Amino acid sequence: MSERDATEDTTADNGSETLFERIIAREIPADIVYETDTTIAFRDIKPQAATHILVVPKTRYRNVAELAAADPRLLADVIATAGKVAELEGLGNGYRVVFNTGADAGQTVFHVHAHLLGGEQLGPFGRYSQ
Ligand code: AMP
Repeated sequence: MSERDATEDTTADNGSETLFERIIAREIPADIVYETDTTIAFRDIKPQAATHILVVPKTRYRNVAELAAADPRLLADVIATAGKVAELEGLGNGYRVVFNTGADAGQTVFHVHAHLLGGEQLGPFGRYSQ
């Protein structure tokens, strides 16, 4: 493990680089399922549903409200990518898109991302509860 890996806190909401920038830069591996000029989609390392994919804009905003205020077109790209990935993953029977925002919602990576959940019958809050 490099010194950078050992010292960098990739989950703190402190404005520093998160692990998602490193996935986008191909510095750490991820199971990437789809990519556009502005977004990337990869499988969540700890899936909370049969299909659990993260959709991430390549430009960093801390949460979905900041993204919406700063660049609504990029937010639309994130949702469009989620829809495309749902199609590619065969989620025609339904899926859920979730943006955790802030500590009370369980947000751990402060680079906005959509959770795309599906591939099974989801409960009122799905299996996605932490
Ligand atoms: P959130 O808790 O909403 O910030 O979501 C962060 C998500 O990132 C969690 O569901 C984690 O399981 C997922 N995650 C953390 N590290 C990785 C990784 N290296 N590759 C893919 N997903 C990850």
